[in-house]
Amino acid sequence: MARKFFVGGNWKCNGTTEEVKKIVGTLNEAEIPSEDVVEVVVSPPFVFLSLVKNLLRSEIQVAAQNCWVRKGGAFTGEVSAEMLVNLAIPWVIIGHSERRLILNESNEFVGDKVAYALSQGIKVIACVGETLEQRESGATLEVVAAQTKAIAEKISNWDNVVLAYEPVWAIGTGKVASPAQAQEVHHELRKWFSDNVSADVAGSIRIIYGGSVNGANCKELAAQPDLDGFLVGGASLKPEFVDIIKSAT
Ligand code: PGA
Repeated sequence: MARKFFVGGNWKCNGTTEEVKKIVGTLNEAEIPSEDVVEVVVSPPFVFLSLVKNLLRSEIQVAAQNCWVRKGGAFTGEVSAEMLVNLAIPWVIIGHSERRLILNESNEFVGDKVAYALSQGIKVIACVGETLEQRESGATLEVVAAQTKAIAEKISNWDNVVLAYEPVWAIGTGKVASPAQAQEVHHELRKWFSDNVSADVAGSIRIIYGGSVNGANCKELAAQPDLDGFLVGGASLKPEFVDIIKSAT
């Protein structure tokens, strides 16, 4: 089954109005492959979502970086899935390692968030990945399987989920996983889906890689058979994001 290449840009907690307009301008002017070939989604901070959605070319979609785990209400500082629906934001990133590790989001909490966002009709980029300590102790596959299982326990339909494998040691460090290291984990995750969910989901789910992806290393990574795209942090704020989008072809 053909899996459409997916490139996400995670802007994290960066940007001013001026900087955001500049990035959008670059994307609007860029020559990028058609929507039939690559799905492109950028994820600005909440406060810039409407601005970006209004200014950005329509072929590029917009994602939030998080949302509240249940229906909105008395949860000071949170943004609900209902609000994202109200703003017509189609995607949300859930379970990024910065939230798991700095804000103590547990596997179970992440699973609940994924389920709630999907129930409201929002598509999810769900992130998994091991720390350096976990990799060095040989626990990588066990860790990513447990993170994926916690989501699988809460949802029954994976059509609107993209799974991002983001080794924590590669995020923002300039230390990218080798194509072979990424392929190994992507392959094992696909096998996990085949063994624990279904052959259909294993064949159709897009598993994207994140962690120090840039214009120079994206081509070789993109050539790996089980790698269906990228979630890009630092480089998504720069013009080289366009080169990463082009690695789809
Ligand atoms: P990076 O971040 O590309 O800056 O390493 C990736 C991510 O955290 O999604």
